[in-house]
Amino acid sequence: MSRQLFVTTALPYANGNFHIGHIMEYIQADIWVRFQRMKGHHVDFVGADDTHGAPIMIAAEKAGITPQQFVAQIAAGRKQYLDGFHIAFDNWHSTDAPENHELARQIYRALRDIPQSQGGSLIERRTIDQFFDPEKNMFLPDRFIKGECPKCHAKDQYGDNCEVCGAVYAPTDLIKPYSALSGAKPEMKSSEHFFFKLSDPRCVAFLEQWTQDGKLQPEVANKVKEWFTIRTNPDGTTSEGLGDWDISRDAPYFGIEIPDAPGKYFYVWLDAPVGYLASLKNLLDKRGQDYDAYMANPALEQHHFIGKDIVTFHTLFWPAMLKFSGRKVPDKVHVHGFLTVNNGEKMSKSRGTGLDPLKYLSLGMNPEWLRYYLATKLNNKNEDIDFNAEDFMLRVNSDLIGKFVNIASRAAGFLTKRFEGTLTQSFGEQGTALLRDIHAAKDSIAQAYDAREFGKAAREIMLLADKVNAYVDHHKPWDLAKEVANNEALHQVCSLLINAFAELSRYLAPVLPSLAQAVEAFTGNSMQHWNATGTVASIRPYQHLMQRVTPEQLDALFEPPAVVEEKVIPGGEEIAPTIGIDDFAKVDLRIAQIVNCEPVEGSVKLLRLTLDVGEGRTRNVFSGIASMYKPEDLKGKLTVMVANLAPRKMKFGVSEGMVLAASHADGTTDAGIYILTPWPGAKPGMRIS
Ligand SMILES: [Zn+2]
Repeated sequence: MSRQLFVTTALPYANGNFHIGHIMEYIQADIWVRFQRMKGHHVDFVGADDTHGAPIMIAAEKAGITPQQFVAQIAAGRKQYLDGFHIAFDNWHSTDAPENHELARQIYRALRDIPQSQGGSLIERRTIDQFFDPEKNMFLPDRFIKGECPKCHAKDQYGDNCEVCGAVYAPTDLIKPYSALSGAKPEMKSSEHFFFKLSDPRCVAFLEQWTQDGKLQPEVANKVKEWFTIRTNPDGTTSEGLGDWDISRDAPYFGIEIPDAPGKYFYVWLDAPVGYLASLKNLLDKRGQDYDAYMANPALEQHHFIGKDIVTFHTLFWPAMLKFSGRKVPDKVHVHGFLTVNNGEKMSKSRGTGLDPLKYLSLGMNPEWLRYYLATKLNNKNEDIDFNAEDFMLRVNSDLIGKFVNIASRAAGFLTKRFEGTLTQSFGEQGTALLRDIHAAKDSIAQAYDAREFGKAAREIMLLADKVNAYVDHHKPWDLAKEVANNEALHQVCSLLINAFAELSRYLAPVLPSLAQAVEAFTGNSMQHWNATGTVASIRPYQHLMQRVTPEQLDALFEPPAVVEEKVIPGGEEIAPTIGIDDFAKVDLRIAQIVNCEPVEGSVKLLRLTLDVGEGRTRNVFSGIASMYKPEDLKGKLTVMVANLAPRKMKFGVSEGMVLAASHADGTTDAGIYILTPWPGAKPGMRIS
């Protein structure tokens, strides 16, 4: 019986590039989707950028572009990650797309307009007090209010919790609050907000049932169950049961305007999950399929893959929104844990933090190494998993290549050289038994994939690979090849090995789609169908299917990025290009005595200096230092002058040289201008070198 599956991953917030946590989630979902397709099920697998909300609006403003331009730039960078790690979404869309605006408004109207006969509206308006930035002219989200922690008095803490002592509080509890956007003192202002009445008995009754009937993993369902009886408020107090959900934000806001409420926008988390439906609708429109008919199919299964940090949105708000707007509710929410890298870097200080997915690809590291490694670690619990560099190398080199890929490379050469690439269909008693064992594991491996127990599937496949390798060690094809009399046995053994390899490749195809494709070309056996039967008749000459990972690659991957120091420009201008000593020698600098100094009539900037550089005569030099020095302060002092500068005719007379003075390049008067003075002992006429 073929299943109809609609599968999504959480929508990434479009204020930055993908990190390794996103890639892990997409690989997890992609493996599951590929497996379902191999089983002959129909899958539509979609994603989208989550584009709305204050952080993106503010980031765009800082970058001097519109929010639309900002999210478009982020969207343009997505493809290289998805293609790079063989993640095959059918569609990638945006929550700012017209489909999403339309669907979000439809859902809202349906919730608002529930007739009295069915219990009445689930949308309520309430006036709440909130901090307002009088300079930016906007209400401030909690994260954009800072101040002193009311508990430990740490400065510059966020409006919702203190990062120093961990206290949780309301923004109004902060001491000396200020806007993180403008620095202004926020004002308390009241505003009308829209609430989704999650506390309504209809919602509670529905969710109590929906969250506890097998749609969630048991540990997730248990956690959610607690929320129905006890709830922790932002101020640390607790209250009974589910709270209503504030779904509106005031302008200015980058989002979807609420119908019949000018200046009010949907809170980003209201329209974000609607983006799943919008991306699907966009895909169906492109195919010319009817969205409503698609969603009306009673056999359709809706699956969401998400991280454990966004469980509330996907197990309370989202199913309730769908249910009471008369729509299909999700069938499964698959929650995974977080990915840490090298034990959160506690173990190794020499290595950089995190694993940069694009750096991984740019180092020429095989994306299917990572897919395989993550598969070995993933199960259907919401536990955190750790990427460990040494473990990664071991699993890839000794399991994937040593146990699996090597099966093919050991057998292929003999078949090509001795038997023109043709395989026999008789495998002997032991060979036939081994192949039977491999076939017998098919259902158990399929169950593991279907249950998202990828680690279990990988272990079962590697156990089969161990059996194949034991068969190789027992029959020793390299010994058989020494005697022509053993030709038939050699043919049997090598033919069996290629058939075993093809079967294992099919089992690994959801994890290693690119390798499976190469094996399909090599053996002529289909890797597209889980239940494909038939043996390999002949092979093409063997080509390397996969390289080993090297320690150098891992070192490079985790090498901390070179510290990019913020460029310091001394004195407001770059140091001039390098010169040789000969160039310097061209400038004749001399100690000069300021014999006389007087103001210049008609100029507020210039002083007229009369200088003695020991030539038996004095020189007349104008200098723009009137703002800093009074003539009487300078008279009799020593300074430094350029003695061989060509005389310059100025409005007030000829200047026969130049006095050295220090200033900032931007010429700001408050930075000042300072003439140089030699240490005591220097005499007029001495050269400076
Ligand atoms: Zn504190």
